[in-house]
Amino acid sequence: MRQRIAVVGAGPAGLTCARVLHRHGRAVTVLERDAGPHARPPGGTLDLHEELGQAALERAGLLDRFRALSRPEGQAMRILDVDGTVLRDWQPRPEERANPEIDRGQLRDLLIGPLPVRWGHGVAEVGPPTRGGVPVHFTDGRQETFDLVIGADGAWSRVRPALSPATPRYTGVTLVETSLDDVDTRHPDLARLVGDGSLAVYGVNRALVAQRNSGGHVKVYAQFRAPLDWHTDPARHLGLSPRAGVDPADAAAVRATLLDLFAGWADPLLDLLRRGTAFAHRPIHVLPPGHTWPHVAGVTLLGDAAHLMPPLGAGANLAMAEGAELAEALAAADGFDDLDAAVRAFEKRTWARAGRWAAITTAGLERLVSADPAQAIALFDEVQPS
Ligand SMILES: Cc1cc2nc3c(=O)[nH]c(=O)nc-3n(C[C@H](O)[C@H](O)[C@H](O)COP(=O)(O)OP(=O)(O)OC[C@H]3O[C@@H](n4cnc5c(N)ncnc54)[C@H](O)[C@@H]3O)c2cc1C
Repeated sequence: MRQRIAVVGAGPAGLTCARVLHRHGRAVTVLERDAGPHARPPGGTLDLHEELGQAALERAGLLDRFRALSRPEGQAMRILDVDGTVLRDWQPRPEERANPEIDRGQLRDLLIGPLPVRWGHGVAEVGPPTRGGVPVHFTDGRQETFDLVIGADGAWSRVRPALSPATPRYTGVTLVETSLDDVDTRHPDLARLVGDGSLAVYGVNRALVAQRNSGGHVKVYAQFRAPLDWHTDPARHLGLSPRAGVDPADAAAVRATLLDLFAGWADPLLDLLRRGTAFAHRPIHVLPPGHTWPHVAGVTLLGDAAHLMPPLGAGANLAMAEGAELAEALAAADGFDDLDAAVRAFEKRTWARAGRWAAITTAGLERLVSADPAQAIALFDEVQPS
């Protein structure tokens, strides 16, 4: 009898897992809360490491198409001082393919391909497993039973409570994201400033990062240490001049607050904020580094649902690697006992690797948004190939 496998979440983890299963001729049901692939903006750019994200795409048979879409020149990295002085300007060699960038939307479309994703299927709760399988309860009250439920539903996973009581905690660092469109024609000065890849500026307990996406789009991330509710009292929480609370949806008020927070930085850097359009708040949450759970037959987790960590270039890579590795293990399994053994072995392997990356990225965030900006430059020098 064929096993009924459900993947909850059509992010990098879930789609990679489903696509590799599909490649091996295994039936899989992808359940996604979003109403459709374009229901919300797809997000920024992702760098995919050769040994993680790219290896996963190879297992999905998609590496050649990734190479055609991705931007090796996006690996370029420039670090400026707050006065605009260039401190580092790293350019990849023409053949460098260690971490090319790809737009998140392009990656999603590449992974979806022929997969019949069930859009508009928000999962409310999973389990507990019974002899007949694992019940999945949807937000609209319906229910369906599977033999294996793979929770790839991100930071605030609804599958995770079936395995673990862990919940994400706030790191004390918030990102506020803004965007610039058509930079090459509308903002050529900022296009030159950002270059082909990323630009980063590190100050005391704050940083500004700008990343080029495809099509002349640039995403800008203002990063700072602040309590989660900083916007209710920016004067007290950010040490700014007296002012009323900020409505996070009020772009003009958020922009003005950020310009105050980054006051004294070089004008072209502040232009990245002045000319940004909408502002989205992304407080950085993490699961406890080294998060594991007692094995439960019929349910497992992938990606951020298993090991949410600071966004320092590892999360999507791990999510995809895990998706591909679990799918190959499941495809090779024969019968229900084999399937469970494959999941159990996968969990052991993946916990060890994710734990290492959680420790690296947690320590990295402490150094990148810190009281001593020299720490950020030192970190860059440690990880960047010369
Ligand atoms: C600003 C920023 C930049 C980043 N840059 C990088 C980078 O360069 N490289 C890198 O490796 N990582 C990066 N990351 C981290 C990366 O985005 C995540 O680690 C990655 O998206 C995790 O993939 P996932 O599939 O586990 O979860 P997600 O991408 O969160 O996908 C989860 C999916 O599940 C769906 N879902 C959620 N709840 C339900 C539900 N109840 N029912 C059904 N569906 C549900 C969601 O709609 C979503 O489609 C970055 C993160 C941020 C915030």
